[in-house]
Amino acid sequence: MKAGSGMRESVSMLKELVKINSVNPFDGRGSGEAEISEFIRGRLRSYGAQARLQKVKGSRTNVIGIVKGSGGGKSLMLNGHMDTVGVTAETKNPFGATVDDKGQLHGRGACDMKGSIASMMGAIKTIADSGSELKGDLIFTGVIDEEYLSAGTNVVIKEYTSDAAIVGEPTSLGIAIAHKGYAWVGVDVHGRASHGSVPEKGIDAIAKASKLIGRLSELQKSYKSVSHPLLGNPKMHMSTIIGGTEWAVVPETCSLHLERRTLPAEPKNVAVKEVKKVVAELSAEDPEFNASVTSFFEQPGLDVSRKEPVVRALSSAYRSVMRHQPAIVGVPYWTDAALLVSEKGIPTCLFGPGDIRLAHSADEYVPIREVEKATLVFERTIQGFCGVKAR
Ligand SMILES: [Zn+2]
Repeated sequence: MKAGSGMRESVSMLKELVKINSVNPFDGRGSGEAEISEFIRGRLRSYGAQARLQKVKGSRTNVIGIVKGSGGGKSLMLNGHMDTVGVTAETKNPFGATVDDKGQLHGRGACDMKGSIASMMGAIKTIADSGSELKGDLIFTGVIDEEYLSAGTNVVIKEYTSDAAIVGEPTSLGIAIAHKGYAWVGVDVHGRASHGSVPEKGIDAIAKASKLIGRLSELQKSYKSVSHPLLGNPKMHMSTIIGGTEWAVVPETCSLHLERRTLPAEPKNVAVKEVKKVVAELSAEDPEFNASVTSFFEQPGLDVSRKEPVVRALSSAYRSVMRHQPAIVGVPYWTDAALLVSEKGIPTCLFGPGDIRLAHSADEYVPIREVEKATLVFERTIQGFCGVKAR
């Protein structure tokens, strides 16, 4: 494999992108995506692509790049999130972009997912430099806030659509067509406060919550009967528990937060309905059991057919670069791809360099070789999917 201009551009972009701090600012501490989105806009313009910033909230902007097709082809969206998770004292040289002797580039976001954005950019440059014209439009969307509430992709889909999309999350160059959704559910267990010397006059909300936790553990066992070929079973875990006020008082309330990971085919609100059912059963058995259930947030899963033209185009590009069949996989994490499918009906799959197990870690890195290969795969996928005008 010869390093063409696209691959050189990817590696240079990757270094620049990692050096720019783009930690998600949800907690008021991250730097945000303003600098990185302006930087990417500048590079897209230098390739001759149309590029603009799309306002999301405050100074936070998506960056949109478009290579206009000549007509008669299908449009493809490449989506990558520019924000990263935060850094701590343990994070090794997070913005150093150092390369080790194994050819791995280290830094916050190297794997999740600046490596993939760099590959997409390299592919766009190659196509722009080649002088050949695409038939369908190519739309690059660098988005904010994927690591928190996906505000960026939610704004992209208000203005843009396409015939298909690829989200560049790290898949170790596998083609991911499925992932779970998730739901956050809260339960407030209500008791009655009393002095610790007369606990029989109160209702201990923490003790009642422990009954609920027991039943939810049984519910989790029932998930073994439902499964998806690439994703396995649904999952649930307790996230937080808060209850009680002081030593000598029977607690009046106990609040639980839990997370349910859902299979793509499970109906909306499945998690909150399940928990409400358990609460109703406990209330029927015990007149002193009283709890209210709230649905806080929910995102759908992803399940795209391997026969979708975008999956076929990506598979064929992969085979031509790698000389073997791609792995078609499900991934354990949630991504913006689910929004593109559920909100806009855009068939979307995931592909990118880097191992997801390194994402968010204290020593995050991406193999440069994978970034280069991904560049070629993106390039050929774009050409295959959008079509190239004969000259
Ligand atoms: Zn990511």
